[in-house]
Amino acid sequence: MSRVAFIGLGNMGGPMAANLLKAGHAVQAFDLSAAAVQAAVGAGAVAAASAADAVAEAEVVISMLPASRHVEALYLGEQGVLALIAADALIIDCSTIAPASAQAVAAAAQQRGLQMIDAPVSGGTAGAAAGTLTFIVGGETEALERARPLLQAMGRNIFHVGASGAGQVAKLCNNMALGAIMAVTGEAIALGVAHGLDAAVLSQMMAVSTSRSWATEVCNPWPGVLPNAPASRGYSGGFGNDLMLKDLGLAAEAAMRVGASIPLGELARNLYAMNSSAGNGGLDFSSVVKMFARDV
Ligand code: NAD
Repeated sequence: MSRVAFIGLGNMGGPMAANLLKAGHAVQAFDLSAAAVQAAVGAGAVAAASAADAVAEAEVVISMLPASRHVEALYLGEQGVLALIAADALIIDCSTIAPASAQAVAAAAQQRGLQMIDAPVSGGTAGAAAGTLTFIVGGETEALERARPLLQAMGRNIFHVGASGAGQVAKLCNNMALGAIMAVTGEAIALGVAHGLDAAVLSQMMAVSTSRSWATEVCNPWPGVLPNAPASRGYSGGFGNDLMLKDLGLAAEAAMRVGASIPLGELARNLYAMNSSAGNGGLDFSSVVKMFARDV
């Protein structure tokens, strides 16, 4: 069992930390939100007063923060904790961030003799709660093997896709496809509804036909089709529109680095940017359907 510092206890980090506790690990929890820390304490964690406090005794440091700037500030910033982490500790960053940021933090960690992997996840908040996440890992095999028991406590599938930063590249590929699929699924259902079809019947048909996807079966964007989907609770919780917008921006940057063309990824990015401008940035990303049916 490991002594873990867990930093970032939001929609994903909260349930992930709870699964580590269930598996018997000791967790020192830190988040800027006192409510998020309290929820972790309720699950059995010990509250840390700061990130520095959390990492002081840790064998493993796990971060689950919104974006590159948060991760860089946590480890490398003026009050960065990299210098405070024990020499033989392991760092696992599960946030979805720019591959270059992941590489920069891993290189700084390596200079201190610390091992670090990028391990962004897929599976959404339901997967985080159920402990069935997919981890997409970049970094050294030896570091992954050290991390494996912890990743197994939080997830079901672990893919080692390459060296430092590769986990982030693979995650961006997944989310670019997801963003486009969610948008076109919403567009298709809105078209059917405009013709008088029942959204639930249409979705059930699509879910066993060739347009079947996570967007039709698990996180259907139309309210009332799936009772447990964010769409059926006012698009609350889930994966924020602005987090999807961030990931599509990262995909665009990644495409420019290698001269790849990503017309559908760029179109999707614009749709999520429009949804954000319409005031829906904090809603689940399936609210992009509002761009096709403004009264949902
Ligand atoms: P979230 O906004 O719910 O949680 C982020 C947490 O980080 C918040 O509680 C916030 O207070 C905390 N935080 C921010 N800066 C901090 C700092 N400096 N120190 C300590 N805490 C800080 O976001 P989330 O949905 O949990 O997503 C986290 C990451 O996981 C993102 O990179 C996202 O893209 C990725 N992700 C999310 C989902 C999903 O379905 N929500 C799925 C896969 C991957």
